[in-house]
Amino acid sequence: MEHLNRRRFMKSAALAAAALAARRSIAAGDSTAWSSDWAAQSVIDTRRSPFTKLHGVPVRAVTLHDGFWQARRVVNMEKSLPTMHALLEEHGRMNNFRRLMGTSTAKQIGPYYSDSDVYKWAEAASWAEQSDTGLFRADIDAIVKLLEGVQEPNGYLNTYFQDDRKPQRMTDHAQIVGHELYNLGHLMQASVAQYRATGDRRMLDCCMKFVDGFLFPGFGREASKRPIVSGHPEIEMGLIELYRVTGEKRYLDLAGYILEGDSRIPLTPDDIVYLFSGAPFTGRTRLEGHAVRVMYACSGATDYYLETGDAKYLATLTTLWNDLVRAQMYVTGGVGARRRHEAFGDDFELPNLTAYGESCAAIGNMMWNWRMLHATADPRHADVMERALYNGINSGMSLSGTMYCYRNPLAFDPTASGPIRNPWYDTTCCPPNLQRTLAQLPGYFYSTDHDGLYVHMFHNSTLDWKLESGVPVKVEQTTDYPWEGHVRIVVTPREAAKFALRVRVPGWAKTVRMTMNGAEIPGMSAGKYIEQARLWKPGDVVEMELGMEPQMLVADRRVAEDQGKVAVQRGALVYCAESIDQAGNIAPRELRVNADAKFAIKRDKDLLGGVTVLEQTGERLSEKSSADALYTAMSGSSAGVAAVRLIPYYAWANREPAEMAVWLDTAADKS
Ligand SMILES: [Zn+2]
Repeated sequence: MEHLNRRRFMKSAALAAAALAARRSIAAGDSTAWSSDWAAQSVIDTRRSPFTKLHGVPVRAVTLHDGFWQARRVVNMEKSLPTMHALLEEHGRMNNFRRLMGTSTAKQIGPYYSDSDVYKWAEAASWAEQSDTGLFRADIDAIVKLLEGVQEPNGYLNTYFQDDRKPQRMTDHAQIVGHELYNLGHLMQASVAQYRATGDRRMLDCCMKFVDGFLFPGFGREASKRPIVSGHPEIEMGLIELYRVTGEKRYLDLAGYILEGDSRIPLTPDDIVYLFSGAPFTGRTRLEGHAVRVMYACSGATDYYLETGDAKYLATLTTLWNDLVRAQMYVTGGVGARRRHEAFGDDFELPNLTAYGESCAAIGNMMWNWRMLHATADPRHADVMERALYNGINSGMSLSGTMYCYRNPLAFDPTASGPIRNPWYDTTCCPPNLQRTLAQLPGYFYSTDHDGLYVHMFHNSTLDWKLESGVPVKVEQTTDYPWEGHVRIVVTPREAAKFALRVRVPGWAKTVRMTMNGAEIPGMSAGKYIEQARLWKPGDVVEMELGMEPQMLVADRRVAEDQGKVAVQRGALVYCAESIDQAGNIAPRELRVNADAKFAIKRDKDLLGGVTVLEQTGERLSEKSSADALYTAMSGSSAGVAAVRLIPYYAWANREPAEMAVWLDTAADKS
């Protein structure tokens, strides 16, 4: 009860602070280019982007009710964000700022990208503020004061390269390896999130001061200035969002220059692959190099296309996206096959046990596809987002909200590896990245366009927003997605209005039925937005029923690791086997599923926060792993039947250490 009262108090305090900040902002005399309608801005604000097909809705416009994601979001708010804030303090990330302000005697600690962890936390907390609370208002305010206290008069701000390391600042070498602009890019994204939550522009002012006061005078394409290389792409997205907020085209142009690369900074061919920058983005033909860098570069390049319409960018992005889905993405939506360099591999190189699949890379995949969805309105991008979100991203945070995967492999042997989930990493990029994704999630459910409304994702929820014609509209979803395939959508425009509602039918659906006020809509098929263009009246109902039979997926023959194996998927969820769920603790690699047998679908409310498990009778392989022999004669027979029990992949590694596999041996390969 005390907790609730505190929350309520904090909420009213936050609202008052926001209103004050907004008034201050106006009093300071915004230029007309500023889009000061901060409360209407979405995760990426494309309302003025000439080449977007879609416009997002703000996070605050969608309220998630009880269900799959709301449970995760509550944990994020109540556990993940507070514990991560405490860990950032404990590991000296805030003292790095205080040291420079003279209020701490602690030494600089952590890698050169440590500031970005603070910024990402501030971004996550800011997105969370849109939906709730004000719980983090005081912590964010304290971070803003640190920024203001550390920023130099010329705008420079980076706790690693201030003070004794100042001579190393923005040298060619530091630009390649030092993450200065990466840190700034994350500060920009935090600033934009904070502005969109509260109208408070103090962090934005810090960013503009850095770019206008430090970067522009000394760096750029002009011969009189020093060149820039984006050693870890991120600044591109940040600059374009800064442009979207301020209307100042110089920020967009700077992003374009960075995406082109500047040959005055000499890079080796290996650097150009690894960094996925430093050479013209439009010269790229495949995904290669450091996976997170690649996803952020592609996201920034798509943002650039949305603003400029440069066809070369869209052509390149399309080529790269085809490489992603044809040859480089895991069935979980994870990317980055190689541990070495945390990198993409060759096409079809998708190992399971050694898969890297960094949480940040899966998040980057979702961010890129969100932008591609804006560019094309092609539902395949929403399908990839859903695959990554429910599986390769969602696996990154424990059910408790306090333990995180850095890698998200598709097979695991605890005797061969250390713990896969940890509360803290010295490179703690993934935890706050997961936190911001959950915090901003409601912003991914809907879009508008000039003549209607898109429904991309499904959850018990209420949208309270307006059509682009100006007509206010509410949309109520009732569903038990992703556990069940029924979705009821009640559409309530304030008054009857003609517009198109486009509901996404996920590409995985083998069967789908849809009704409009009870009447069957003909011509259903999966992987499409089903459009109903009509005069909508308050209370009109669309219902969708997706077939939820478990499916056994086989991989392209060129994925050597997956041959003779299947991955099981039900709806949006990819499943896996953990040894602790099998009778006798049998390792998944010693199991064989029966491709001809159906899975029983069982809801278990007490398991792993409430999951649906899949069960069938398979076989136990007779050729067991053994300490005695690497090779043995094939017996040709199985060691008898074995019950096979599968759980959703996202929920793995939440109990005692166990062997895990997504791809399971099968007796009858039906491909
Ligand atoms: Zn990461």
